[in-house]
This record gives sequence, structure tokens and C-alpha cells, in this order.
Amino acid sequence: MPNTKSKKPEKSPSSNGKNKNAKATQETNSQLQKFFEDSLKDIYWAEKSLTKALPKMQKAATTEELKNAIEEHLTQTETQVVRLEQVFELIGKKAQAKKCDAMEGLIKEGESIIEETEDGSMTRDVGIIMAAQKVEHYEIATYGGLAQIATTMGLDEAADLLNETLDEEKEADEILTKIAENNINWEAEQETETE
Ligand code: FE
Ligand code: FE
Ligand code: ZN
Ligand code: FE
Repeated sequence: MPNTKSKKPEKSPSSNGKNKNAKATQETNSQLQKFFEDSLKDIYWAEKSLTKALPKMQKAATTEELKNAIEEHLTQTETQVVRLEQVFELIGKKAQAKKCDAMEGLIKEGESIIEETEDGSMTRDVGIIMAAQKVEHYEIATYGGLAQIATTMGLDEAADLLNETLDEEKEADEILTKIAENNINWEAEQETETE
């Protein structure tokens, strides 16, 4: 209920107005830690799934430029899996994967695009790029959030690792945009005339 807009300075975090039961700080922290850990399991599953999905996307792609970009990101993705294992280690937890429904859906969407587009066509590449960028955007949102939580919890080393991956996901997204802008979209547009 947002009708308690008390702005008086609070000394103890347990007197936070949002927390009706005035839970102890420790308990609040462990809730966030649990959320952090669960989110790590989710993205760990997602990254591991991508190491299997990316080779299929690469194989289905038409242009060498896109094939190379996907291959490079596959290598990065393998490193990202290892980084997540390092983050699990830093928080003293076993690396464990928990199914990410969102990534499962995004990968399925990519597979349908491949099924629905003609082999060897530029339209296929346009579709793969779009599907891949949806994946990158999901990852950017996830790693941005996770890095922020890690910083908040004082897990600086974990935050560094998560930010490193975040930068790679942003870079991958930008590369895909450039590939689409530079030739693929234009060539796909020509394709509709000559087909
Ligand atoms: Fe991912
Ligand atoms: Fe990734
Ligand atoms: Zn998820
Ligand atoms: Fe990625």
C-alpha cells in the first residue's frame, strides 16, 4: 500500500516501510542471494543451450559473414559458461542449470525461422539475425541485472565477470546490427524480385 509516504530518516534497514514484518537484514539479504543464485542457474541453462543452438544457426546461415559472426560468438558463449561457473564458485555454490523458459522459447523461434525460410536465401539470414538479436537482448537484460545485484551485494569479483560477459553480449548485438545494415537486408530485399 503506497499510502505511507513517510520521509523521515530511517536508521535501521529493518524499519523499511515496504517490509511489513520488519524482517531482519540478514533474512532480506538471503532472499536476494537466493534470487541471485536462481537467476544464475537460469542463465547458466540458457548459455549451455546456446552452445548447442548456435552451431545449428551457423550451419543454416547463408553468408560467410553471418556464419563467422555466429562462430565467434559461439566461442565467447563457451567462455561465458565458464565465467558463470566461476561466479557460482565465488558464492560457494555448485554450478547448476535450471531450465530457462524464455531462452527455450527464443531458441524455438529461431528454429521455426530456419524452417520457414528458404535454404541459401538472404531472407534466411535476416531471420537468423533477428532471432539472434532477441537472444542477445535477453542476455543483456539478464547480465545487466545480475552484475548490478552482485555489485549491490559487494561481490565485486562476480560483478566483474558478469560485466565482462555483458560487454560481449552488447558487442555481439552490435555486430549483428552492422551485418544486417551493411548488406543482408538490402540483398534480401532484392531477392524478392529475382526469385
Ligand atoms: Fe545467454
Ligand atoms: Fe551469452
Ligand atoms: Zn529465463
Ligand atoms: Fe550472446
